[in-house]
Amino acid sequence: MRSISIFGATGSVGESTFDLITRAGGAEAFRTVAVTGARNVARLAEMARSLRAEVAVCADESCLPDLRAALAGSGVAAAAGDGAIAEAADRPADWVMSAIVGAAGLVPGLRALRHGGTLALANKESLVTAGPLLMATAAAHGARILPVDSEHSAIFQALVGEDIACVERIILTASGGALRDWPLEALAQATVKEALAHPNWAMGQRITIDSASMFNKALEVIETREFFGVSPDQIEVIIHPESLIHSLVGYQDGAMMAHLGAPDMRHAIGYALNWPERAPLPIARLDLAQIATLSFRAPDLARYPALRLCREVMAARGLAGAVFNAAKEIALDRFLDGGIGFMDMAGVVEDTLARVMPEMCLESDVMTLEDIQGADHLARVRAGEAAHLLAQRRAT
Ligand code: NAD
Ligand code: MG
Repeated sequence: MRSISIFGATGSVGESTFDLITRAGGAEAFRTVAVTGARNVARLAEMARSLRAEVAVCADESCLPDLRAALAGSGVAAAAGDGAIAEAADRPADWVMSAIVGAAGLVPGLRALRHGGTLALANKESLVTAGPLLMATAAAHGARILPVDSEHSAIFQALVGEDIACVERIILTASGGALRDWPLEALAQATVKEALAHPNWAMGQRITIDSASMFNKALEVIETREFFGVSPDQIEVIIHPESLIHSLVGYQDGAMMAHLGAPDMRHAIGYALNWPERAPLPIARLDLAQIATLSFRAPDLARYPALRLCREVMAARGLAGAVFNAAKEIALDRFLDGGIGFMDMAGVVEDTLARVMPEMCLESDVMTLEDIQGADHLARVRAGEAAHLLAQRRAT
């Protein structure tokens, strides 16, 4: 029986993973080692009971009494805190879903790779923050990382049977997010609610805002470089409002391989779960005659400064990705709590990169977890300062 763990089980990707595991037989078909969440104790306990997990862990330590109570008599152990999540990743499992949001997903992902199984990686932030370390850890332990981000799953599938040396370009598609058709001048006033109205994908709150600002696509450009080892100038971004082509690979003979499907994360998750085989999945089938047209347009860099910033980050290499991701997380926190405006997020990130990068040794790709955590911490402090200054200016 295959053993699995789901990190970030109570989130959007986690719920889709749970759905597929349950449809495939749940506790009768898989031995579940660990399920984790942040604070949603009731749902976490429900999942843990259903899958008969060995352990359920919530990140928030104050939730432990409630989690214990919810699991009483179930035989599932309860634990809490970041340390307990990392320890849950030390328990070997054949297939581990990494679906925690943000840099918090890095340590559990690294720890899980040490068992040499498969890490299904939705947590793109860990590749952006620590790509070389993650890849080196996987290689050292004979572990495999499979992409779960829909674009990267599409690219991975378009590369099957091909030689990466024959790849000329990789084209990431972007929906353009909730504010795609707003006039540029109006973007500064956009509210959280408006930025959350994603046209095609139902996702967690943070990635939905990141889609509107294209910080999500900026992270994905870096994720592409780290995952497939192509150079930054081979990676392009195109706005494709229908979100039916999930990405494309262009080869040196001019051919392009595109991956099409309904915008449903269960495709990419299911592909990673069943790989190298394909299994039936409960995904809506496309009716091309009804769709009739697919449209594309080049992204306007004035609307999406994140797409320019990710190029600077890739040129700087080293710890720049950790700085970029951490600054973005703080800027997003401040936007969500009303401290700064929608377009200020890019300002905070740009300011943080300018201040932190000269303070860091960035040239080398040989990085330790301590280097990364140091860069992440410094970037959060500097981004907090930059956001504070902007918030003060807004208030006066
Ligand atoms: P989400 O916010 O819906 O869920 C995040 C999960 O992580 C939840 O279980 C939450 O409880 C847990 N969590 C939050 N903070 C934590 C912390 N500090 N420590 C431990 N656990 C914590 O997010 P999501 O939309 O499911 O996204 C998860 C990851 O997948 C992200 O990296 C995102 O970029 C990536 N991703 C998501 C989608 C999507 O369709 N939602 C698509 C592609 C990639
Ligand atoms: Mg994506």
